[in-house]
Order: sequence, then C-alpha cells, then structure tokens
Amino acid sequence: MNRSLPILCIYLVAATVSAVFAMSDCAVHAADGLIRREGQFIELTTDLDSDDEINKLVSTFDAAVTQWVTFWNDESFDPAAFKVQACVMRDESLFRQQGLIPNEIPSFPFGYASGQRIWIKAQPSEYYTRHLVLHEGTHAYMFAAFDGAGTTWFQEGTAELLGLHSGTGQSVKVNAIPADRESVPYWGRFKRMDQLRAEGQIPTIETVMGYQPNLIGDVGSYAWSWAFVDLLQGYPAYRKSLLEFATAGSDQGPDFDRLVRQKLQDQWPIVSARWRLLSHDLDYGFDWSREQVELSMTDGLWRGQPMQTNVKADQGWQTIGARVPGGIKIRLQASGQITLAETTRPWISEPSGITLEYHRDRPLGQLLVCVLPNAIPDKSEFLEPLEIHAVKDELELEIKQYSWLLFRVNEASGNLSDNRGSFDVSLSVKP
Ligand SMILES: [Zn+2]
Repeated sequence: MNRSLPILCIYLVAATVSAVFAMSDCAVHAADGLIRREGQFIELTTDLDSDDEINKLVSTFDAAVTQWVTFWNDESFDPAAFKVQACVMRDESLFRQQGLIPNEIPSFPFGYASGQRIWIKAQPSEYYTRHLVLHEGTHAYMFAAFDGAGTTWFQEGTAELLGLHSGTGQSVKVNAIPADRESVPYWGRFKRMDQLRAEGQIPTIETVMGYQPNLIGDVGSYAWSWAFVDLLQGYPAYRKSLLEFATAGSDQGPDFDRLVRQKLQDQWPIVSARWRLLSHDLDYGFDWSREQVELSMTDGLWRGQPMQTNVKADQGWQTIGARVPGGIKIRLQASGQITLAETTRPWISEPSGITLEYHRDRPLGQLLVCVLPNAIPDKSEFLEPLEIHAVKDELELEIKQYSWLLFRVNEASGNLSDNRGSFDVSLSVKP
C-alpha cells in the first residue's frame, strides 16, 4: 500500500475506512485503533495497517505451529488447547492505554513472552516482524508443551530455530536457513556472526551454554544459541537427544545443562569439533545435506602409509576417514578438475582455484585442508581460529598434535549445489 496512508488509516472511523479502502490492502481498525484477528492457534491484536500483513501473520503462525508439533514429535502434547494471545505493536502506547501490557512485563527491545501471551514490536520489515512473532510464539509453545525450555541458550536457540522461516501462510517452512540476505531483511544474524568471526570472538560451546538470561536483544548471543541448537538438529545422531532436552525443559537451572553434557558426553569431542566447523561456516544457503561432517570417535590412526582420497566439489568438509598423529610432516599432492558453475561456459577449476573470483580472500574453487585437533579446546571464552591451508598442487604440512584432516573446495556454502567433479589428493609422510 501507499506508505503515506498509515496515519489516515488508524484514525478514520471504521465504516469510512472500509468505504474508502474497500479495494485496498488497508486494515479496518476498531474505535480503539486496534485490530483483532483470530486464527486456530493465535489471537492477534495489532495496530499494523496492512490487511495483507495481518492475514499473513495469522496464517503463517497457524501453519508454523503444525510444523512445531511435527518437529518435537511429542505425543503427550495436545496442541488443540494451545492458543497464543499476541500483540504486534507499532505504537506501544496504544496497547498500554488498553491495559494489554501488564505492568510487571519489563521493557523489551524486540519481543517478550509470558505464558501464552506474547508482545512484539513491529520491525522495519514484514519478514523480521514475522520472525519475532514465531520466535516469541515458540517460547509460548515450549512453555505449553514442556513447561519451559531449559536454560538461556536452549530457550533462545529453539526460538530462533523455529522462528527462522521461508515463505508465508500455508507455504511457510520453519527451520529454514535463508538462501540469501534479501529474503530475510533486518534479520542480521549472519552479519553479526561475520563481525564476531573477524574479531576472533566465536564462542566455545561452553560459553554458549553459559549465557545468562539477560541477553536482551544481543543478536550475537541469539545467533550462536541458534547455531548450537541447529547443530544438534542437523546431525541425525543428536536429534533424539535434542527431543529429550526439550522434554526436560521445565528445569531452567544447572541440572538442565548437566543433562545435556551427560547425554552427549561420549560424543563431546566430536560435537566440539563439529561446532568449530559449523561456527566458522554457517551462512546463507548452508545446506545440512552437504555439510554434515563425518567424524567418529572410532576413526583409526593413520600409520603413514601412502593414501589417496577424493574431495567432492559439491560437499562441505570431507575427512580422510582417519586421524593423523602429531609430530610428523606430511606431503599432500592434488590433481584433477572440477566445474564450479555452468554459465555461458563452464567454470573449470584446478586445485589452485580460479583467481577471477574470491571467497573469504581465497580464489574460488581452491582446494583447502583443515587441520582440526582431536583435543577439545581449552576452557577459554572464544575459539582459536581454524587452521586452514591452501593445498594448490602440492603442500607440505607440519602436524603438531593428533588431528583430523579435512578437505573442501573454497566456495560459499550456498553455492555448492551446482558444482561437479572432484579432486584427487595423495598423502604421504615426509621423511
Ligand atoms: Zn527469545
């Protein structure tokens, strides 16, 4: 609708508005300036002025709840009784005047949930307003289904996970990593993650699990909490544990985190290694079907016999299937050609990469190796940067400690799907 109309919209009496805007997208406000719209799982009160946006909020919320039910797969919860009272506010004072925000609710920058009531401040983009409605709605759902959502990282991580969506109404898909920045205006999680990466402030899992309940709109902490929950749902091996954590959600103290550590104890070095990779790589277009990293506690130790491995161009980090011991020097030799894209002509890359285009300051298509220590990082607040080298045609590498060796082609996660072919890499110990 025409952006010069909103004020007119709010204050005209309803009958006049419907006459004037019968053919428009403008919502009909009641005498108190507010609109009430009811869906299956939501009663929305709002001063938004786009009828289309309001309808989308309601229909998206209803469809999202159905997907949350499927995601948590908790048969003991009957969603029929679940209904959220939601206020989506442009002018908060209107809602205060109507007594729709109880005095005990603290001031908040974006949104707030209490039981089955949620309050959201309208954002500069419809996407981000919807994201926040689904985020706060997830909090309400977790309270209704599980009597809580554990400690801060799990509360915020699950709300971010199930608030992140593509599409609207019946076509909505929750838990959908956005393909590009344009589809999620003002969401900004990846931008903040990039800043923190550049500042060397990628948190350890322990730091994320230690977040206190006073995040108050700290985008970075929300993003890392989401990333850790995303890791737990991205690997089938942890999915069952994730559901168990949700079931224990009524415990919002240290016992909740103890349960998480205990359930994942046997796997912790792998979880930790995968976190180091995910926190480095998570970005627009990230696709779990290409980015699950095959690491195992039972990976054998490489004894130094010459070996060959194959690195697929359309996959993320790929292991050689063994760990390498510390205190040795190895030689990597790479060969082959891959196709990065088919435009007017195919983009062919050799292991050195194509210098016509760069990703993260390295030529596109370049073969990379990551030396990832088996040991869990020290209990510091932030992770050491990953040790990543360009292999090019040949590389000699000193391995300092027991590590996994991982390879991938240098390209943004979201652009892997059209890649074809693979590089061959041979490994030998340098005498
Ligand atoms: Zn939240």
